[in-house]
Amino acid sequence: MSKAESKYMRLSGLEPLIITPESNFINVGERTNVAGSRKFLRLVKEEKFDEALAIARHQVDGGAQIIDINMDDGLIDGKQAMVRFLNLIASEPDISRVPIMIDSSKWEIIEAGLQVVQGKSVVNSISLKEGKEKFIWEATQIKRYGAAVIVMAFDEVGQADTYERRIEIAERSYRVLVDEVNFAPEDIIFDLNIFPVATGMDEHRKNAIDFIEATRWVRENLPHASVSGGVSNVSFSFRGNNTVREAMHSVFLYYAIKAGMNMGIVNPSMLEVYDDIPKDLLAHIEDVILDRREDATERLLDFAETVKGKKKEDDGKALEWRNKPLQDRITHALVKGIDTFIVEDAEEARLSVDKPIEVIEGHLMSGMNVVGDLFGEGKMFLPQVVKSARVMKKAVAYLNPFIEAEKGEEQQALGKILMATVKGDVHDIGKNIVSVVLGCNNYEIVDLGVMVPPEKIIETAKKENVDAIGLSGLITPSLDEMVYLAKEMERQNFEIPLLIGGATTSKAHTAVKIDTQYKNAVVHVNDASRAVTVVGDLLNQNTRNEYVAKLKNDYEQFRDKFLKRGKEKHYIPIEEARKRKFKIDWESINIPKPKELGVQKLEQISLKDLLPFFDWSPFFRSWDLHGKYPNILEDKVVGEQATSLYEDAQKMLQEIIQKQSLKAKAVFGVFEANTINDDDISIKKKGNEVGIFRTLRQQLKKREGKPSFALADFIAPKESGKQDYMGAFCTAIFGADELAKVYKDNHDDYNAIMAQAIADRFAEAFAEYLHHRVRTIHWGYASNENLTNAELIKEGYKGIRPAPGYPACPDHLEKETIWDLLQVEENIGVTLTESLAMWPAAAVSGYYFANEEAMYFGLGKITDDQVRDFASRKGISLEKARKWLHPTIADN
Ligand code: SAH
Repeated sequence: MSKAESKYMRLSGLEPLIITPESNFINVGERTNVAGSRKFLRLVKEEKFDEALAIARHQVDGGAQIIDINMDDGLIDGKQAMVRFLNLIASEPDISRVPIMIDSSKWEIIEAGLQVVQGKSVVNSISLKEGKEKFIWEATQIKRYGAAVIVMAFDEVGQADTYERRIEIAERSYRVLVDEVNFAPEDIIFDLNIFPVATGMDEHRKNAIDFIEATRWVRENLPHASVSGGVSNVSFSFRGNNTVREAMHSVFLYYAIKAGMNMGIVNPSMLEVYDDIPKDLLAHIEDVILDRREDATERLLDFAETVKGKKKEDDGKALEWRNKPLQDRITHALVKGIDTFIVEDAEEARLSVDKPIEVIEGHLMSGMNVVGDLFGEGKMFLPQVVKSARVMKKAVAYLNPFIEAEKGEEQQALGKILMATVKGDVHDIGKNIVSVVLGCNNYEIVDLGVMVPPEKIIETAKKENVDAIGLSGLITPSLDEMVYLAKEMERQNFEIPLLIGGATTSKAHTAVKIDTQYKNAVVHVNDASRAVTVVGDLLNQNTRNEYVAKLKNDYEQFRDKFLKRGKEKHYIPIEEARKRKFKIDWESINIPKPKELGVQKLEQISLKDLLPFFDWSPFFRSWDLHGKYPNILEDKVVGEQATSLYEDAQKMLQEIIQKQSLKAKAVFGVFEANTINDDDISIKKKGNEVGIFRTLRQQLKKREGKPSFALADFIAPKESGKQDYMGAFCTAIFGADELAKVYKDNHDDYNAIMAQAIADRFAEAFAEYLHHRVRTIHWGYASNENLTNAELIKEGYKGIRPAPGYPACPDHLEKETIWDLLQVEENIGVTLTESLAMWPAAAVSGYYFANEEAMYFGLGKITDDQVRDFASRKGISLEKARKWLHPTIADN
């Protein structure tokens, strides 16, 4: 493979955004644009930057992958506003995780923005409008600042409004940038001007199709460049008729994305699901967008009157599909996930064929192929697919006895895949979802469950002669397990691909630590929707070699870049970091004495009391539906799915509460505590030391005046002479596995996964509930607190609840200290695995800090001097300290 083939646009906020040919359409949020949002303009004018930030956050939460920021307004000092807003964003990790698009028509604003923005941003925009010389100068500056750029299809003559003008300007701009400025072609994004159609003017008839065709030309002829645009323009003539506008946007995007448009500004609430557009409306809109007939505009205008404000047809005719032919009914049941009639239909199908296996290979598989296609095209979402799988399984379970009776030949699977959560780890929701999705795409799955030792994985892989191994893990020690398994596979001359997934895994860790251990394919697959295509490419005899070579090469390049990047960062020795600790003026602080000290157990808790503390957003995330609850229920793209998932969850919740099928238990305590020797927190009971928490300190070199944090900074040091306090807790939900098994035995993976996901929610809600009780009652430092659910989810209370394994305390070893202190196992029966994962899986543990200044932070890289220091403080071997502290980040 030539090097050029892997030139992808790489943008970043705190997190990277790499745009590859496999990436889905990149959505740019534009509500932080004073020209596009009156509200944002007003807030900036009135200097209400807090509220302006909330808009940015809302965009990111709503799924924007880049945010466009524009301060071009006559009444604003644009330069100052841009700098101020970018600086504010930089201190909001939930916003600044995405890349920024610096949008201005004034160069001085762009440059001011480039000087303060963090990460790799995009400049919006430059063009040949004022001549080549200015264009070259600006591009050179942007290159120097290391940003990508949007190039408008505009030149000295004017704006491109035909196919020919679009490609003429795009080509000329591209050649100047690439040949004369030496601008990286993958950092060029063309905005090819989306203009309205159906305006009644003949010269506008080709506006959409010209954009689409020009997009195709750019993607085919200007290597590595991207194409973007603002989509809502296209429907401008239909302002006031959202039904038509939403459908127009979907149709336009459907064709533009096919032609190669890979980025753009789309308001997700102004999008209809393509397949849900009524056929007659769709035909009229396609006529207009694709300019298929002379009278397309008149016809759409007439038709638009009839759909104005009309509600979507409700399904009063819900059962009409039952009158359709057999295959249609089976396909419908699979696509919609309806299992009510599937046994009946399977029986009818069985009676119509010679051998019962033909129903699986024929009727059911062709229905599942429709599901696979819709999913692949992004027209169906994960929960739907898992529901489809349930229908499939029910049908297969019904047919199996007939198949066995005939001793017919086995169904031919596409391949056999071993799935396992590695040794010491207990989390398997994601793995279960991937298994189900692969299973319904005709792969045979050998699922070994959780906590699977490497020997068992290797042995089963050989015995079952599997075609690939998929490993999953949620906590950092699992990363090491994966590295070990890759080594073993290499040592034993395996040749099958190794798939890596789960919450702590990353492309970086996979490329740097795992890929290097195994000569054959290693792939990081973190979302279930990609698993099917990746496995397909890996197992297909024809494409396999080429695909693997490409993968290997991709990971090698990724690794090289990653390691080089790591070297540019500077770290300070631990001693120096300690000198820069975060200082609290303990003199001036009155530390309240806790109402109750010591360990307490909580076992008689009613599940119902936990409901007000639920945070639903992560629940949707576990099903690959992204967005914030409750807005996600209204979302134009995933809203319907989210709502039906939510309703199913509510049903199960009520049943669980009624039958008390899950059990909540907790143990917690507040103790006397003081920081000793800078980084350790000494815990006492009645004056006697009963434990020490070892904290870790940031070592990244920072600007003068910025502290290097450790959690120990939030507890009064012994020398202050003040008695301070610290708490610890563990909450857990028992019974989820048993519940899931009942469903699983009934071929209902959908509800089995649902039960696990709900148990996780209960455990988190319990942590929130308990923390609230500790703050208001047991410790009692915030007895008057009165927060809403939304405020709780944002953790808007005084004090923090950091959890081992999270960024401020990534080391899991301190869980042992919590377990000792609270006697967690003896008190409530939650155990720690050899990797220090908690069992049962639906469990949360952590510490309580009450100080007002206490906040979350990220530790970043831990350098070797701190590892050595930690080992000696804790009295463990250097090797052990390395093992526990280093897997966190790939370049450690
Ligand atoms: N409400 C969410 C909580 C998710 S996990 C849910 O229901 O799933 C996030 C938890 O990790 C926080 O509640 C906090 O306890 C902890 N946490 C967050 N950031 C952290 C950090 N930087 N260091 C340590 N712990 C952190």
